[in-house]
Amino acid sequence: MIQDIEPHKLNNSFAHEEAEREHVVFTFKDGKILLYRDSEDNLSLPTLGKLPGPFEENRDKALYAFSVDQDPMFLILDKDMEPAGDEFTYRDLRELYNVQPKWAALAGVTASHLNHWYSEHLFCGCCGSPAKLGKWERAMVCPQCKNVQYPRISPVIMAAITDGDRLLVTRYAGRPYKGLALIAGFVEIGESLEGALRREVMEEVGLEVKNLRYFGSQPWGFSDSIISGFFVQLSGSDQVRLDRDELSEAVWLKRDEIPEQNNHISITAAMIEAFRTGKINY
Ligand SMILES: [Zn+2]
Repeated sequence: MIQDIEPHKLNNSFAHEEAEREHVVFTFKDGKILLYRDSEDNLSLPTLGKLPGPFEENRDKALYAFSVDQDPMFLILDKDMEPAGDEFTYRDLRELYNVQPKWAALAGVTASHLNHWYSEHLFCGCCGSPAKLGKWERAMVCPQCKNVQYPRISPVIMAAITDGDRLLVTRYAGRPYKGLALIAGFVEIGESLEGALRREVMEEVGLEVKNLRYFGSQPWGFSDSIISGFFVQLSGSDQVRLDRDELSEAVWLKRDEIPEQNNHISITAAMIEAFRTGKINY
């Protein structure tokens, strides 16, 4: 999954670090990430020294984001940074899957999450005053009313519904991702994870489920969320009633009918693969 970057480690502790030319820097525009492109069209994460524009100006804008191993990485909240020439290009976040080293996807998507949060909290949500960066923690602090805003992470549940040797797989309606999917949705206010799961399953495919078993979780900065994955068993009728706003398809596949999932990024693929290969037997 995206977070499996061993032996490397993403260290998200808050710190004060000075950006240098060799440090990786993330910047985004309209949901796309700025990447460096060499003469053979290989993409890589840009460093501060290579970034378009005057070095000193870029360094002054660079916010410490996190480290990978001992290497600090930075964020520039500048939506107007225009790439000069062919060396830089704004790309869809999913292109990070093809960028080396292997931690690039986790770092880039996590930076996107942070970028989104900082950009939405430049002003205090209580009194509307311009907010300032926290001095001692990753927060936006209001100098007027002292309101403190912390990075927001939205919980999402994912359900793999099984019925003996069969798994219910779906495809999303109206989204760029066209591969196999599972039932997923945001947890609503006042809900437990279990309650959200039962509600989403009922809304999207009209099925009753029982015996929830936790599989694992995944940070998913694409949607500013954390995904909790569960296997659940069908309870009652297997007749699917599809929510066509959310899904284009939902079908029961036997283990040997499920295609191998070559995506090593998503918890969806990890869960489907765990069922297909028999690691999960319920
Ligand atoms: Zn305020």
